[in-house]
Amino acid sequence: MPSTARTYRIATIPGDGVGREVVDAGRAVLDAAARVSGEDFALEWTELPWGSDHYGRTGRMMPADGLQTLEGFDAIYFGAVGWPGVPDHVSLWGLRLAICQGFDQWANVRPVVFHPGVTSPLRKADSADLDWVVVRENSEGEYAGLGGRNFSAREGGEVAVQSSLFTETGCERIMRFSFELARTRDRKKVASVTKSNAQQYGMVLWDDVFRRVAADYPDVETESVLVDAMAARFVLAPESLSVVVASNLNADILSDLGSALAGSLGIAASANLNPERRYPSMFEPVHGSAPDIAGRGVANPIGAVASGAMMLDHLGHPEVADAVRAAIDATTAAGVLTADLGGSATTEDVTSALVAALREPA
Ligand code: ATP
Ligand code: MG
Repeated sequence: MPSTARTYRIATIPGDGVGREVVDAGRAVLDAAARVSGEDFALEWTELPWGSDHYGRTGRMMPADGLQTLEGFDAIYFGAVGWPGVPDHVSLWGLRLAICQGFDQWANVRPVVFHPGVTSPLRKADSADLDWVVVRENSEGEYAGLGGRNFSAREGGEVAVQSSLFTETGCERIMRFSFELARTRDRKKVASVTKSNAQQYGMVLWDDVFRRVAADYPDVETESVLVDAMAARFVLAPESLSVVVASNLNADILSDLGSALAGSLGIAASANLNPERRYPSMFEPVHGSAPDIAGRGVANPIGAVASGAMMLDHLGHPEVADAVRAAIDATTAAGVLTADLGGSATTEDVTSALVAALREPA
């Protein structure tokens, strides 16, 4: 039996709804990619049945010692969480955000990639040449969880406060990360997104730190853009974009817009990184559990597969990751498209086409 030089231990959390379907597809494609790569490594998957079913049985989205269980893995491959009957903030905070925060995954990288054979709503003839990446500050900002609800006799009802947290350290690290990422790209440019005209504390700090960090990267072009203007820019002038760095909420919204422009939420990939590698990083499609199509075998697996390619990058196998991305392009170019992209292929059809494309590289 051939010896395998390296086996990576991957924790899989399919979660809810289509999470199960797309994670299974992603595993099949990544295993095939590892097998045909000629690089001496394998992925060993350990499945953790956490999510809304687990919540129904135990009152928790994951066990109390869940983070300890995950800590020993090389990476986490995640599907989606959220199901009717479980409040969204419970499913999100009980699992996904618990992992992001517990493992200090402060950088969330969300590429916006246009594939051949997929019609963008932009309908630009050259849209297959577009690609940019949204870097989302993933540890503080608007999702810091600060605030509370209280009854106020004076207001005659409840009053809720939801605060944002911006720290100089948090801003600086996400900006350095973005500038370093820009240096690896053809177009060396970082656009910083805020609403600093209306939010005058945190976002002005963000702008100040951006200017200071930019001075260390004279080779990288910069601009500061308000989030509303950036939303319009995504649609009107996407060719001007390369790296777009934004706070937690703004980047969440912009990356959904980006994936919709690229054809579907179903193709968007995402990496939640702990860049210091003190803890495992987590790779997941941008989309949610899609209860409206779950269980029918029609979910688009490309977002999960492309997230798996980002996991291969992270594990140190960028050429295998590129082979997976090439297989995605070959599959879309051949017209093997799920319903969200206007086709009639099933999850299984796309998965088989991806595996076949890996075996016969273009
Ligand atoms: P979340 O709150 O977790 O982000 P959401 O409520 O924003 O979830 P999704 O579950 O992502 O919503 O679904 C939004 C829409 O996109 C739905 O119509 C869903 O069917 C569609 N969708 C999501 N993922 C896929 C996929 N992999 N393939 C095809 N369609 C998808
Ligand atoms: Mg959403």
